[in-house]
Amino acid sequence: VSAHREEHLELCAARALGSIDEADRAELERHLAGGCPECERALSELGHAVEQLAMSAPAATPRAELRSAVMDRVRAEAAASPRASEEARTRRAENVVARDLPPRALVRPARPRVAWSGWALAAAAAVLAVSTFAAWRVAEGLRVELAAARGRLAQAERDLAIERAWSAVSTSPGARVVDLAPLTGGATLPRVRATYDPSSRRAVIAFEDLTTPAGSDFELWAVLPDGPKSLGVVRADANGRAQVRIEDAGSPETLAAFALSLEREGGSPDPRKPAGPVVLAGSVRP
Ligand SMILES: [Zn+2]
Repeated sequence: VSAHREEHLELCAARALGSIDEADRAELERHLAGGCPECERALSELGHAVEQLAMSAPAATPRAELRSAVMDRVRAEAAASPRASEEARTRRAENVVARDLPPRALVRPARPRVAWSGWALAAAAAVLAVSTFAAWRVAEGLRVELAAARGRLAQAERDLAIERAWSAVSTSPGARVVDLAPLTGGATLPRVRATYDPSSRRAVIAFEDLTTPAGSDFELWAVLPDGPKSLGVVRADANGRAQVRIEDAGSPETLAAFALSLEREGGSPDPRKPAGPVVLAGSVRP
């Protein structure tokens, strides 16, 4: 079991960056075999940073200044110890000599770290800077998505509240449901079901098989004591369906029936009187 030294963290950085040599790898593994929480934490953090960098590589290429800062650092380190590799060779030679000594006397010389530890740390710092930037971008993207999702949720909640209010029309205990019956033969008439809730005075009128003859429009009417009142022309969707929602169809005392007339395109010119034939009608009186 070898005690933890600062140098081991440099080996961890080199290993995470894939720039460790065999001798260093062997030394680090010997050290890790004895268990070292500090090195394990460093390896896990560096490994995560490198992973992040790999994942964000296309989006987060290091900025030019960052790369040149790292390269400057490498050149500065190289200039500071120009003989580093030569020293290493000398030490290896000493090692060979030392091999002839009895094992107990074998003293491993300090490794020449200076030549690469600087750039290894600079590179690790660059990895962390890039991965931090990448993480920030991811977080920023998520923040924007979250805001958009919250907006959609709020809209969906408003829509749902409206749908609930309208579906309450049909579930209201006093709701009156009437299928409008044809008053004339011949024409292709839609199927129309009116649901009226006396307590809210709301009505939902559902249309099926609504095929409007060319140049015409179907117009919906509420029949009140003082005569009919237009509820507007009804246009079908692509499936021949339509739904008309009426906020105030009148009080239960005044609303007598719903009716449908076939008008010229655009509807009757008089909102209190159909101009064309009334083709369907249904009483909502209990
Ligand atoms: Zn350690």
